[in-house]
Amino acid sequence: TKPRSEESFILSVDVGTTSIRCHVYDKEAKIRGSCTSKVVALYPEVGHVEMDPEALWKSFITVVKGAVQGVQMRQIEALGISTQRGTFTTWDRKTGVPFHNFISWQDQRAADLVKSWNRSCTMKGIHGVMKMLYFLTRQKRLLAASLIVFSTQHVTFRLVWALTHYKQVSEGNCCFGTIDTWLLFKLTKGVHATDYSNASSTGIFDSYQMCWSGFLCSLVSLPLSIFPKVENTSHDFGSTDPSIFGVPIPIMSCGDCIWQAAMFGECCFDVGDVKITMGTGTFMDINTGSKPHTSVTGLYPLVGWKIGPEVVYLAEGNAADTGKAIKWAQELELFSDVRETSAMAYSVSDSDGVCFVPSFSGLQAPLNDPKACASLMGLKPSTTKSHLVRAILESVAFRNKQLFETMLRETHIPITKIRVDGGVSSNDFIMQLTADLFGRKVARPQHHEMSCLGAAFVAGLGVGFWRTREELKKLQSTGEVFLPKDAHKEGAGCQNREYIHTFQSWERALRRSMNWYS
Ligand code: ADP
Repeated sequence: TKPRSEESFILSVDVGTTSIRCHVYDKEAKIRGSCTSKVVALYPEVGHVEMDPEALWKSFITVVKGAVQGVQMRQIEALGISTQRGTFTTWDRKTGVPFHNFISWQDQRAADLVKSWNRSCTMKGIHGVMKMLYFLTRQKRLLAASLIVFSTQHVTFRLVWALTHYKQVSEGNCCFGTIDTWLLFKLTKGVHATDYSNASSTGIFDSYQMCWSGFLCSLVSLPLSIFPKVENTSHDFGSTDPSIFGVPIPIMSCGDCIWQAAMFGECCFDVGDVKITMGTGTFMDINTGSKPHTSVTGLYPLVGWKIGPEVVYLAEGNAADTGKAIKWAQELELFSDVRETSAMAYSVSDSDGVCFVPSFSGLQAPLNDPKACASLMGLKPSTTKSHLVRAILESVAFRNKQLFETMLRETHIPITKIRVDGGVSSNDFIMQLTADLFGRKVARPQHHEMSCLGAAFVAGLGVGFWRTREELKKLQSTGEVFLPKDAHKEGAGCQNREYIHTFQSWERALRRSMNWYS
């Protein structure tokens, strides 16, 4: 046991798409130990993106041990875990052996399945019935249900694919889990659970009824028995088995990295708070309060968190290829370090008419086209590397504008603040252009690893390490604020005149890239 005088800490791990990060936080939320490891993605076939569950587990252990070097394991009061969402595997409940690799949220193997379901008579029938019920009852939820389209980013059809193709999966012994669930199972040697935020981002969870959707499961033949128990986001999930770190560590929070970044790392606790996370992909979320937002143009209603009796909902739009497009450009040697890209974009006055469509994994809301291709249009003999880089960075801000406008149009919620985090938020060019296109100020925290901090905050609140959310707000720094160019127009909407023509050309390129792989 820990001597009373000894300082204690909160440990937090964030499993992103490109890396696993672990930090040890003290009472002032200062980082006292850190370790990072790369996440290795496997590409066994075109469009397939996987990860090895055992390799991920080993990396998890390595980063925890690496971060807890300057202090003792017994000084850790609690562990919080946040993970990339929608990436899942299945394993044998008795042996704990995975049936197959993790299938990533970026994986496109179910694109054809999704498309044929979206076009099927069954879906048309369901949409028709929902519309009729809407006209009879005027319940907006029924209108939303009449417009539902499936997407490859949700787990649903990738799981249908896995259960059909991996013959070794047997229903009786099968555990389904996203990354958090797999790690919990390994750490506790057998707890099969997840939290509401992770469950709701699978697409199989009914955010209105707060349970796995029996209707969807019977529609697409998924056995309900394989799903984990859904717990509060702040919950005592059990302790790590002592054989792993020498002492048991209570696991006090589990959550999806996007909401945690927003709500706790960035203290966005109020209705109308918007958070944009730009990492491998972009996720834009608005806090819609205690009710799920019913979207009719492709925003997704998610459970932000459930802590005690309080449930907070988010409406989310996303773009899958943000950091991914930048990484691709780096692999092509357009630059050697991502930190050069902002200056390269500023070194030219425009992209010389070049438009880049960031669609390696299709286009998401408000276009919802899994068959769109990525493209570069308007190339000329005069096009330089800087023009190409500018076009790529512009495309990230353009997708932000599309998502933001969809959000404003749909929710009618007054925006209170906009916080941006994730690796790509380090890019000043993208941040400034986003503020200009929104006509609003956007803020970037000093420390962009908000998912880790968010998971630590929830775990810390759970064990009384920190007592109130007000206390957390005091620990947070304001960070850097980007003002829109026409500062007097703050709040006027997406008005930047300089970009009207460029944005329209880009939208034309976008339309031409749609339905390419039909
Ligand atoms: P994830 O959590 O999805 O793994 P991160 O939030 O760690 O992603 O962000 C990683 C991405 O950020 C990488 O694709 C990297 O190329 C990109 N990135 C990091 N710094 C910059 C920068 N200054 N400009 C543009 N992109 C950047």
